[in-house]
Amino acid sequence: MDTFDFDACVVGAGAVGLACGYALARRGLSVVVLEKARAIGQGVSSRNSEVVHGGLYYPTGSLKARLCVTGRRALYAFLDAHKVAYRRCGKLVVATSADDTGRLEAIARQARENDVEGISEIDGATAMAWEPGLACVAAVVSPQSGVFDSHGYMLALVGEIEAAGGAVVTATPFEGAAPAPRGGFTVRTGGEAPTTLSVRQIVAAPGLSAQEVAARIEGFPADRIPARHLGKGVYFRFTGRAPFERLIYPPPIPGALGTHYRKDLGGQAVFGPDLAYVETEDYSVDPSRAAGFYAYVRKFWPGLPDGALTPDYAGIRPKLHGPGEPQPDFRIDGPEVHGLADLVALFGIESPGLTASLAIGEEAVARLDMARVGRSA
Ligand SMILES: Cc1cc2nc3c(=O)[nH]c(=O)nc-3n(C[C@H](O)[C@H](O)[C@H](O)COP(=O)(O)OP(=O)(O)OC[C@H]3O[C@@H](n4cnc5c(N)ncnc54)[C@H](O)[C@@H]3O)c2cc1C
Repeated sequence: MDTFDFDACVVGAGAVGLACGYALARRGLSVVVLEKARAIGQGVSSRNSEVVHGGLYYPTGSLKARLCVTGRRALYAFLDAHKVAYRRCGKLVVATSADDTGRLEAIARQARENDVEGISEIDGATAMAWEPGLACVAAVVSPQSGVFDSHGYMLALVGEIEAAGGAVVTATPFEGAAPAPRGGFTVRTGGEAPTTLSVRQIVAAPGLSAQEVAARIEGFPADRIPARHLGKGVYFRFTGRAPFERLIYPPPIPGALGTHYRKDLGGQAVFGPDLAYVETEDYSVDPSRAAGFYAYVRKFWPGLPDGALTPDYAGIRPKLHGPGEPQPDFRIDGPEVHGLADLVALFGIESPGLTASLAIGEEAVARLDMARVGRSA
């Protein structure tokens, strides 16, 4: 019987790669997580809203719907168990004109079909009594939505992987892999001390580099690598006292959940992200976008004072669809898609990837298990 340096190699130490590493380690497998950056969680996982999503919007039966709901339940339990900070503040999806009330009804219906707990619909007066300063004609209440410390979460995942004997190695890019003649893969790593490793399984979770990493795996069919689109979103911070306790979301915009309000764990009010397709990974925040933010935010918060928004940060969504195209599901591609045994490649893990991360990890490992059972049957 062949022996391997590690049972499993995970590419990428963002929230999703680390959750995959955790799922593998929980099965008693030896795991190495390779991260090209000098620290964990510096990619998409550190440039987002840190919202724990309820799972309201996604088509029932999709991976996004299922893994957001199960992932969210698992995430709150994990945060409790590891004493990572969060606030289950709840969320209001608001209609700011009568034109939007039909959309709210559809969102509430979809949320119930997705098995999201505690969804209710309230009139504008009730919402405005809950959140003075808010302007809306109706709202959907999602009590399970919240905000959390995503970096603390990732550190806790590293702790779990290491406690199980695994390794999370930073400044160590995955350079490529080739199927080994007797099973498993030979993985080449770069960085200051390039090496090769023999591993039985690979889970590729490199976020924005998903297409590039798949192309570096020998035998990965080029026609199974989806096109990459970059969906940039910027945030503006409000310099005064945070106006609301709950998350406030207007109905989604095409291609994203849209600019929303959150009070972060530090008590500061943040608005964003918008959506603009870009060609390069540029994280600058153009201050001139503020004009659009004032107009948009004042629909639900007319009291937003002039000059109160300052440019904050930007994130880039690893999208699989271009402007105007329907938003596809997560892709968790196992051997049935790309034909390579013992490999799962993730693509398009945009929102709600952070919320769903623990469930994505379980799903990726289940697909590896399923493929093995299929082969030995
Ligand atoms: C603006 C924005 C807002 C969002 N808001 C939310 C939210 O509120 N709630 C929510 O649930 N989700 C949200 N998301 C989605 C969520 O942030 C992502 O789904 C999630 O963080 C993806 O994690 P990841 O581990 O797949 O990717 P990443 O965090 O990008 O991790 C991938 C890692 O792989 C590494 N890597 C790449 N190539 C290599 C290589 N060759 N070798 C080794 N390492 C490599 C990268 O350096 C990186 O660290 C948001 C996303 C964006 C962009």
